[in-house]
Amino acid sequence: MKIPLSRPDITQLEIDAVCDVLRSPNLSLGPKLSEFEKAFCDRIGTKRAIAVNSGTSALFLCLKAMGIGPGDEVITTPFTFVASATSIMMTGARPVFADIDPDTLNLDVNAVRAWVNTRTKAILPVEVFGNPAGMDSLAEFAREHHLWVIEDSCEALGSEHNGRKSGTFGNMGVFAFYPNKQMTTGEGGMIVTDCEDWADLCVSLRNQGRSTEAAWLSHKRLGYNYRLSDINCALGLAQLSRLDDFIAKRTQVAAWYQERLKQETRLIVPRTQENSLMSWFVFVVQLEKTYSLTDRDTLLKHLNKQGIQVSNYFPPLHLQPFIKDQYGHQEGDFPVTESVSQRTVALPFYNNLSESEVAQVCDKLTQTLDQLPRLSKAKALA
Ligand SMILES: *Cc1c(COP(=O)(O)O)cnc(C)c1O
Repeated sequence: MKIPLSRPDITQLEIDAVCDVLRSPNLSLGPKLSEFEKAFCDRIGTKRAIAVNSGTSALFLCLKAMGIGPGDEVITTPFTFVASATSIMMTGARPVFADIDPDTLNLDVNAVRAWVNTRTKAILPVEVFGNPAGMDSLAEFAREHHLWVIEDSCEALGSEHNGRKSGTFGNMGVFAFYPNKQMTTGEGGMIVTDCEDWADLCVSLRNQGRSTEAAWLSHKRLGYNYRLSDINCALGLAQLSRLDDFIAKRTQVAAWYQERLKQETRLIVPRTQENSLMSWFVFVVQLEKTYSLTDRDTLLKHLNKQGIQVSNYFPPLHLQPFIKDQYGHQEGDFPVTESVSQRTVALPFYNNLSESEVAQVCDKLTQTLDQLPRLSKAKALA
């Protein structure tokens, strides 16, 4: 038996869409790019959407468009995928971490307050695991302090909070389409914004600093090649047309997990936050507070060995060796993040995970929890 952590949902619709582009003369900068961007605008409700080759590129371009660079600080969460912080580092600015709310696992607005100073230019909050909770208070805080907000919605396509869509809380929002996300383009990302000037800058920056009106080999500014090909865009269009179905399937899978694990007192099981419409990215449980990092890692190893693919989303970013060294972080700097990070277990989670597979995962998980005292002790002695 093997149950993967994630699996894309590709049908004949996607295969045909990609093949149509391959039969056309426009493999890049063709009609599928603007079609994909237009469909995305319609879905999110922003004036502009700019497709790029990854979520990381998208975050980086937002920061560049805002003019953020050396000497500036951007406040973000240490409990996220590495790109939230490295995109800031790539501009020459400094990622300043603030701790998370133990309930939502998102940036805690009260923790953010302590890190604002004259160098602070922006906040880069993340809707971790798809949870949009707290984005409204962070955006309001940023407005009061005259800071920009780049909303990292890479894990939250389709989520809503108090009737507002993820990606629209900040000045710019970012989505990503790696194969484990809610929808995929193979690789890809999308910037959304209502600001025409920033959008135009992003269009230029993704295409070697070209301006739309000038000749092909005329470059107005230092730019990058962050274009998304029409092959990827066609895949994205097909996936976007099925997004509501994807979200419904994922909601069902999450509900099966919640139902089967609701009596399991050794686990903290994620629930949908109040006033939120949650588009589930992953299903991450936490071992209860008495468990240690060794227990968690033993559990991961044991489940992976049995074909249930699980993972440790996310180790704290401030303790990633190159970040720790560069900014002089230490263990204990962000206690909530560190405590949560030691106890998380991301379970297999994707559109077509069946109810019986969810049952198998939960059975194996429970059995492993039963055996954990013995397994951890064996590991400690080894
Ligand atoms: C996936 C993801 C990204 C972007 O990832 P890419 O692989 O560059 O597309 C950024 N931030 C978060 C929180 C993510 O989960």
